[in-house]
Amino acid sequence: MQPTDAPTRTPAKSGFADALETWYRGVYRRLPWRETRDAYAIWLSEVMLQQTQVATVLPYYARFLAAYPTVQALAEADDEAVLKLWEGLGYYSRCRNMLKAARAIVAEHGGRFPEDLDAATALPGIGRSTAGAILTFAYGQRHPLLDGNVRRVLARVFDVAEDPAKPAVQRRMWELSEGLLAPSEDPFTFNQAIMELGATVCVPNAPKCLLCPVHAHCDAFAHGTQAERPIKPKRKATPHYDIGVGLLRDAEGRYYVQRRPAEGLLGGMWEFPGGKREPGEDLAETVRRELREELGVEVAVGAFLMRVDHAYSHFKVSLYAYFCTPLEGEPRPNAGEAFQWLPADALDALPFPKANRTILKLLRERDAEA
Ligand code: SF4
Repeated sequence: MQPTDAPTRTPAKSGFADALETWYRGVYRRLPWRETRDAYAIWLSEVMLQQTQVATVLPYYARFLAAYPTVQALAEADDEAVLKLWEGLGYYSRCRNMLKAARAIVAEHGGRFPEDLDAATALPGIGRSTAGAILTFAYGQRHPLLDGNVRRVLARVFDVAEDPAKPAVQRRMWELSEGLLAPSEDPFTFNQAIMELGATVCVPNAPKCLLCPVHAHCDAFAHGTQAERPIKPKRKATPHYDIGVGLLRDAEGRYYVQRRPAEGLLGGMWEFPGGKREPGEDLAETVRRELREELGVEVAVGAFLMRVDHAYSHFKVSLYAYFCTPLEGEPRPNAGEAFQWLPADALDALPFPKANRTILKLLRERDAEA
């Protein structure tokens, strides 16, 4: 049998569900979100686990649930306190969407996560696969999944030779997911198992096919194409930006920080001011220009503190942090966002993105020694 260019029918995979579920019952990891049927706790875990490893999520999940044990508690929470708890986990729009969704659940669904798939996917930040997982794990419903792990497993089991991100292939993948789930008498176990298989056996690089409970059902294994599945579109080179950051310090040793707009990248997080280096500029000029444009203040750029490299999903940055002294004008963000002057140790209480947090850490140590 040849690899399929485009999957056009749901091939029978008799025995797949049984083999997968039997394996799972023997090896599954005891994770707190598998020990509960509380839709809110399961929803939290599904959101935190997007793009994030289990080991990273575990402490965040425990702290978050301790602080906000119910959807009502989250709905009433202060946005900044919630972002602070999320600090370091990244993809902060997940957190902002959870807050919005919690408030919608309290306002429109009587404080209970909706049991209907359409109502669940209408909530901010909840796509079809996340909704399907929550409804399966909390309410025992039967829904196919198509998160990153499941997509990879399906692309290999059915040897899908097209980019799964294409809408037509994606639609077909949903059918394949549904077709594999159909014979199962235990959708909870099946869905947990297929996610677990993707996370621990059918991993992105070097899948452990010889240990795989479904290798007898796997077309890519039969064809020797598993390393080429799923097909990845050719990626453009990841852009990289140099960012000049101003550590604007007043006579009392306090630093100026501002809050980013509520929507968009790192929305609602605090940061030191600065921006992208223009072609031909040196970094001190970047800092001077950015602070003039952003805050309406002239500054003297002093000592260099550090460089921090950081990768986001679609670009990379290098932050270059310089101490600055205001010469003329009172810094005020153009966009009217909130700002504060605080000593380095007091800045700790605010939610900062990871790269800014690295700068803050060194700043605090330096100021403590001074
Ligand atoms: Fe993945 Fe290999 Fe198992 Fe196929 S046999 S599902 S490629 S681990």
